[in-house]
Amino acid sequence: MSRDINNKYWNEELETLPREELEKRQLEDLKEIVKFAYDNAPYYKRSFDEAGVKPEDIKTLKDIEKFPFINKKTQRDTQGVGSFLGELAAVPEEDVVFISTSSGSTGVPTMSPFTKKDFDEFQDTESRWFWQIGMRPNDRYVHALNFSLYVGGPDVIGAQNLGALCIWGGTLPSERLLFILKTYQPTVIWTSPSYAWQLGEKALKAGYDPKKDFNIKKIIVAGELGGSIDATRKAIEDIWGAEVFDFYGLSDIFGACAAQCDYHDGLHIAENHILVETVDIHTGEVLEPGQTGELVFTTLRKHARPLIRFKTGDIGRIDITPCKCGRTHGRIHILGRKDDMFIVSAVNVFPSDIEAVIREQSDLTGEYLIRIFEKDFTSKYAVEVEKATGVDKDDDTVAAEVSAALKARIGVKPARVVIHPDGGLNTRSEHKSRRVIDERNIDYSI
Ligand SMILES: [Zn+2]
Repeated sequence: MSRDINNKYWNEELETLPREELEKRQLEDLKEIVKFAYDNAPYYKRSFDEAGVKPEDIKTLKDIEKFPFINKKTQRDTQGVGSFLGELAAVPEEDVVFISTSSGSTGVPTMSPFTKKDFDEFQDTESRWFWQIGMRPNDRYVHALNFSLYVGGPDVIGAQNLGALCIWGGTLPSERLLFILKTYQPTVIWTSPSYAWQLGEKALKAGYDPKKDFNIKKIIVAGELGGSIDATRKAIEDIWGAEVFDFYGLSDIFGACAAQCDYHDGLHIAENHILVETVDIHTGEVLEPGQTGELVFTTLRKHARPLIRFKTGDIGRIDITPCKCGRTHGRIHILGRKDDMFIVSAVNVFPSDIEAVIREQSDLTGEYLIRIFEKDFTSKYAVEVEKATGVDKDDDTVAAEVSAALKARIGVKPARVVIHPDGGLNTRSEHKSRRVIDERNIDYSI
């Protein structure tokens, strides 16, 4: 099959479906998957019966609201129960061709099984995102994501199916990756935002000029929020002279379920695969599109392990108004993880808000560490930052400026700002960084 490389859509009919038609298809798939889950996954049979709901109750998309939620804990509790794949799985093991597992950063790793059809549709969705950001068969692509167990690893197949020349980089040491960028002159790379930025810094320190010595035109980032923070995206773009696109995925579903288009105003989510709801963080009450809350996803076409009303733990909103690019699938805007959100003086604060402020300060390197702690029965936050080399202001002045900038943006100033020299913070890790330390004695397990 050959596609017109000048067509901006991978699947024009699907990507530009009128909203009404898109929702009609969602409803057909929803009816089918809810019935399939009820008939084949022991957990759903039990939980729907307990809630007094039946697959036949789905007459409109809104009827999904009658069904119970599941979350990460449901996955953990049912994994391995009754069978290797557990009680959420709806197919026998012989129909499963691939499992990925989560990092387990917030508990026991959970696995995500795929049938052959699930996997092929997953890769077709990845091809769609690659095409959306402008990747074409004449591109050379480095997939610099972890291949070990991680659901983002196989996404490279989507680029290969599109026809791009793919280099399975994985988590190579920086020196070897820079050698590949120099020698093979790839045009597109995917990594985490923090690593994209650090790799650029390492390139500069190693004597390369990323804009001249390499040929990177587009950088895909995922796994952390940076790609949706304008200041962070711009900082990466400035180093590389390349356009940065944010992707969003879930280990529970796909490598990338949503991706930015040329307009960078939210991430188009594959609504043919995922029914998106937004619910109140505390009450679970369903909110209107456009309102901010916890994102709840129902997978419409994944048969190995359907997720019906899965509370993602991500806070955000969906915008279903038309995008300038012509795609009709809604755009999600993610603010952060529910677990990372903290409340200071009645204000909801996300680490991403703090990152945006720090990355805009020209006196700082952009590296940071946030500590959240309790004092006098209330949450407080402190930030640690690095003063850039060559800045001749004293530390107190820089700290006062950072504090004032945070107060102006967020509404509450930090309890303290600690200034380190350039390179003084130990937050530069390969590929994924941990920049938030929560010292509060609160159990956040869900
Ligand atoms: Zn768009």
